[in-house]
Amino acid sequence: MSLMFASPVVTPTVGAFTFSSRRSNYIVMSAVRSNSTSLCPVLTKFQKDCATPTPYLREVANAIADDMRAGLAVEGGGDLDMILSYVDALPSGNEEGLFYALDLGGTNFRVRSVQLGGEKERVVATESEQISIPHKLMIGTSEELFGFIATKLASFVAKEKPGRFRLEQGKERELGFTFSFPVKQTSIDSGTLIKWTKGFNVSGMEGKNVVACLNEAMAVHGLDMRVSALVNDGVGTLAGAKYWDEDVMVGVILGTGTNACYVEQKRVIPKLQSKSSSGTTIINTEWGGFSKILPRTIFDREMDEKSLNPGEHLYEKMISGMYLGEIVRRVLLQMCETTDLFGPFVPVKLSTPFALRTEHLCKIQEDKTDDLQIVGSVLYDILEVEASLEARRRVVEVCDTVIKRGGRLAGAGIVALLQKIEKDTKRMGSGKRTVVAMDGALYEKYPQYREYMQDALVELLGHKLASYVAIKHTKDVSGLGAALLAATNSIY
Ligand code: ADP
Ligand code: MG
Repeated sequence: MSLMFASPVVTPTVGAFTFSSRRSNYIVMSAVRSNSTSLCPVLTKFQKDCATPTPYLREVANAIADDMRAGLAVEGGGDLDMILSYVDALPSGNEEGLFYALDLGGTNFRVRSVQLGGEKERVVATESEQISIPHKLMIGTSEELFGFIATKLASFVAKEKPGRFRLEQGKERELGFTFSFPVKQTSIDSGTLIKWTKGFNVSGMEGKNVVACLNEAMAVHGLDMRVSALVNDGVGTLAGAKYWDEDVMVGVILGTGTNACYVEQKRVIPKLQSKSSSGTTIINTEWGGFSKILPRTIFDREMDEKSLNPGEHLYEKMISGMYLGEIVRRVLLQMCETTDLFGPFVPVKLSTPFALRTEHLCKIQEDKTDDLQIVGSVLYDILEVEASLEARRRVVEVCDTVIKRGGRLAGAGIVALLQKIEKDTKRMGSGKRTVVAMDGALYEKYPQYREYMQDALVELLGHKLASYVAIKHTKDVSGLGAALLAATNSIY
C-alpha cells in the first residue's frame, strides 16, 4: 500500500497526445484502443485460448466427475486421488471436553485449545498461537522439527488458565493434527508422508508415520498429549464448518494451492475395503491433480515446464493463488516482446519469475478510476514502468482473462462435486440447502474471482438448483475442525 502512494502520478500519454480532461480522455482513448487492440495478436489469441463458454465448462465439470468416480473405484484410477480420510463420524455438536489442534503446513504452525461445552454451550473457550518455524528446521532432521513443535506445544499448554480450560481427571490430552503435505493415510490416526513440498525437506521422513513422529517427540518432551486424528486442511475446514451448520457437505481451499473434500456415501466407494458400507465418510479429492481437457495456452505450458512438478496438478496451476500472477506476467512479457506495450524496451522486472503476484492482479482489477491510476501505480511499483492508459487497459484485460478462466474453472469443479452429491442423495432436488465451506485468501480477498466462480455455478447448475447452494466463507475453522475430530475420535 505504501509503495502505491509513493509512486509519482503518471500522466497518460499516447502518441503525441497528452490528455488532461478525464472525460475527453476516455472517448479519444477508446478510439485508439479499438484501433490497436487488433494490433495485439498475442492478447487476442490468449483471450480466445482461455475462453470457457458454458458448454465447454460443462464438459470440464463432467470430466472432473468422471475422474472422481474412477478414483473411487480403484487407487490411482483417475487424476483425482480421492483419498479416504477415515473421517466417518462428523462433529454432532454434542462434543464435550478439552481438545487441541496443531496445524503444520507452511512456514508457520498454529496451535489451538478448544474447551467444548456440548450442544448448548458449544465452544466455551478457545486460545490459539502462531509460531514461525526457523528455516533451518525445515531442512533439518525429524527429531529437530518435531522436538521444536513439542516444546512449543508444551509451553502453550503451560500457559493455560485453569479456570478456562479443564482436562477431565484420568484423561490424557488429545490432539487433532492437520498436516498439509501429501500423506498416505492408513487410519484416522496414522499416515505416512509421501513427499515434502513447500520448501520443506526434513531428512529421513519420507515413508514414515508422521503421527508416530509427533507422538514420540511429545513423549520425549514430557507432554501428556497424543494425536487422535490426522486430517488435511480441507477435511478440517469441512468438519469445523459442519459443527456450526449441518448443511455443509463440501469443504474447499482456494489459497496458495487448492483442494476440495466432501461427504460421500460409503456404498458408492468401490475401493473401500471395509465390511460396513453404510453411512458416510469424507473424501479428500486432491482435485488440484486434475489435468484433462483444460484450456492450456503456451504460457501455461511454459510455466508448467519450469515448475517443481511439471505435467502435474494442471488444474491447480490454473485456479490457485500461487500461479495466477505468474501467468499474467508471462503474457505481458510476450506482449512486450512483440509490441511496444510499455515502450520500446522490455522492463527488466517483467523477466523475473513470480514478480507479479495474485494480490497485484486483484489491486489492478479493483481500480475504478477513469484513467486507471491504481493500475498505473502497481505497474510502476512492481515492474518499474510508466504505462500509457492504453497499456493499462490491456494489462487489465490480461488479468481479467486469467481470473475469469480461473474462477470459472473453480466453479466447474464445485459443480462436479455438487452433482456427484446430488446423484447419490437427491438433497437439492428435494429442496434441501447445501453448503460449500470455503477457506483461503484467494477466495476471501478477490471479489472478481468470486463473482466469476458464482456465475459458472449458476450457468452449470441452473437457477433452481443453484438457489439451494450457499457458498460460505469459513475463515480459519480448520483448527476447530481438527480439535473436533480429535473429540469424535477420542479413545476415552
Ligand atoms: P495457504 O493456502 O498457504 O494457507 P492463504 O489461504 O493465505 O494461503 O492464501 C494465500 C494466497 O492467496 C496467495 O498465494 C495469494 O495468491 C492469494 N492472496 C493473498 N492475498 C490476496 C489478495 N489481497 N488478493 C488476492 N489474492 C490474494
Ligand atoms: Mg491455509
